[in-house]
Amino acid sequence: MSKARLIDGKTFAARLRRTVADAVTWLGTEHNLVPGLAVVLVGDDPASQIYTRNKIKQTADVGMASLHERLPADTCQIEVLNKIAILNEDRSVNGILVQLPLPDQIHPDTVIDQIDPAKDVDGFHLLNAGKLVTGRPDLTPCTPQGCLLLLKETLGDLEGAEVVIVGRSNIVGKPVAQLLLQENCTVTVAHSRTRNLAELCRRSDILVAAVGRPEMIRGTWIKPGATVIDVGINRIAGSNNTTRLVGDVSFDEAVEIAGAITPVPGGVGPMTIACLLANCVRATCYQHGLPAPDLSSSVA
Ligand code: NDP
Repeated sequence: MSKARLIDGKTFAARLRRTVADAVTWLGTEHNLVPGLAVVLVGDDPASQIYTRNKIKQTADVGMASLHERLPADTCQIEVLNKIAILNEDRSVNGILVQLPLPDQIHPDTVIDQIDPAKDVDGFHLLNAGKLVTGRPDLTPCTPQGCLLLLKETLGDLEGAEVVIVGRSNIVGKPVAQLLLQENCTVTVAHSRTRNLAELCRRSDILVAAVGRPEMIRGTWIKPGATVIDVGINRIAGSNNTTRLVGDVSFDEAVEIAGAITPVPGGVGPMTIACLLANCVRATCYQHGLPAPDLSSSVA
């Protein structure tokens, strides 16, 4: 059997960023608006610092304004809530993102609930989560949005596809399930208590892995010709004291069986920030009563 087609998230994300940049230019020239994204980072987690830097750089690259709020690791919850209250009132800020994970003394749900839902570009606020579940999506979570765009780009119409999603987190598994239900897929969500996981996975036309366990999903778990979306980002030891990134799927095995697969890195990862920028443009438009441009049509 021939090898799976690689789903090139880097290229799709670059295309989406160009569409976002065009929308930012349109907002500036036609409406004198510059979308502004505030990124709040509490503490000094090294991975979070890298993610935050990337977000800030890409925000600037598409012509949006970015505001970086760095708070020390020992910041108490009320200080974070106060900071968000200020950003909620700031008219130059259209999107607010709080980088997760937060230090132990700060409860992430309380912080997310403090963000004005109209500025919740991560799509994690209860109101936005509720809108997604009830079929009225507004600002939807970025990584799930990225998964959906890559699937549409690869397969076109998704109607009727059998999907298995491994992982049920609020930020990946559950919203991916909701988005794919809306595409009329038949969706099964698996988790750590699921029985016969390998057998379940083998029945799926589309397999989405969002587990956080390096290369857990083996080639033999995949239906021949299936489309595999690997959300996992795991750093493991490489040779000569180096480290390398792998997904939740054993790529070398899966590529021999699947019809199409996202690599790690270079698959879902780049789509996440591009979708964040797209959400910031959408949020800006909604806040000013403007129709949001169709940003996903350039990709899917
Ligand atoms: P969580 O740890 O929040 O959730 C993991 C899910 O996997 C849980 O639902 C858990 O089940 C399930 N799980 C764990 N072990 C097993 C197992 N042995 N069998 C079946 N299911 C299992 O992770 P996230 O959803 O936040 O992230 C998942 C992965 O995606 C991580 O690698 C993360 O780094 C990556 N990620 C990548 C992003 C990107 O931009 N590409 C963005 C966000 C995350 P249970 O609920 O029963 O505990």
